[in-house]
Amino acid sequence: MISKKNLTNYWFTIEPYVYICITDNCILLYNTLDGVFIESDKIKVIELLREIVQEENCGVVLLTNEQFKQKEINDFIRELRGKYMGDVIDVDLSKGKPVQLLPFFNLSGDIRALCKKHNFASGKKILEFLSEISIYVDHSTNITNLIPFLQSLPGNLTINVVGNLENVVDYVELLSFLDQLPSSKNLICPCTNVISLQPTFENNFSYSVLVHFPVDMLQLGHSRQLLLNQTLPIEYVFEVSSLDDCQQAKQLVEQFGIEKYQLKPIYTGDNIDFFEENVFLTKEDILSTSMSIEDFFANQAMNIYDFWKVNVMPNGDIYANVNHLALGNICTHSIHEIIYKEVEEGKSWLRIRNQAPCSTCIYQWFCPPPSDYEIIIGRLDLCHVKQ
Ligand code: SF4
Repeated sequence: MISKKNLTNYWFTIEPYVYICITDNCILLYNTLDGVFIESDKIKVIELLREIVQEENCGVVLLTNEQFKQKEINDFIRELRGKYMGDVIDVDLSKGKPVQLLPFFNLSGDIRALCKKHNFASGKKILEFLSEISIYVDHSTNITNLIPFLQSLPGNLTINVVGNLENVVDYVELLSFLDQLPSSKNLICPCTNVISLQPTFENNFSYSVLVHFPVDMLQLGHSRQLLLNQTLPIEYVFEVSSLDDCQQAKQLVEQFGIEKYQLKPIYTGDNIDFFEENVFLTKEDILSTSMSIEDFFANQAMNIYDFWKVNVMPNGDIYANVNHLALGNICTHSIHEIIYKEVEEGKSWLRIRNQAPCSTCIYQWFCPPPSDYEIIIGRLDLCHVKQ
């Protein structure tokens, strides 16, 4: 036993850098300084933790000598102290109840309230927060409509241009306009549609080259040469749907001396086994990801994949996420109206794990927010965690 006396009561405290999750039948404490965690399904421990997270208790509760001696509690506190996640203090050695500041997520589960509080309705702040726009282009893109819309956006956005630029009438005009902007500009297109940008367009352009399988080796080699003749940053994105694709992508990386690349899993409708093996999260994946208190709060408030980002389709329709309904059109809505609509009634920026089965899972706020895969596959729990 930790105690030497028999009648001492204790103040039980949890350190402020510890994130606490509680469900009906278990608790999980995570030390955000070193990633160490404690899990328990002991009833008495769950009850104790429930008490300590009550806001009015401020992270400190009284632990009677009798409670302290109970094996479940005593073992838990021993582990907690060993991992520097909490402590017990002899009541006789403390002048009153100690003060501890446990971090509380205090948006009442609704970031919309915060947006209103920051005077979003007046429109003064909205544009400052927008961080990224993806412009999808094809032969129907109308530069005459698009450029005035882009002029209404803040100057520091990341701009992605997605698709085959050469299909766009007057695409040089679009590139000339983008070249004037201080923003980062990323051209995202298949390796079959890479065009030469330099020396005409020099300012902050980069390339993301999509590689589909089966690979057109001739086109890949041709585009590689074209890109190597320029000095733009390049990333290759291999769109893999099987282990064979992954294997082949690695060979291509070696063969072409590709420095920066990523493998992007593509769901085809009949490769769920590939996803289960390579994309679905395990408990080990989840708990080995380093998390800060801010990360936990962000997961409870917003979808970090979509937040403050918009997508413009070739016909001018604007989406927060292309898998949800359009918010408006560049010809009929201002960017202010679009953002206001998404904050007020949209489904993308605030899409979090607040629905079953994630809503009752102990890892609810450990898991990253739902991505497009959850929408496309049609389920939230892309994981191997059994509840
Ligand atoms: S059920 Fe949801 S929250 Fe729980 S581990 Fe799976 S994906 Fe994450």
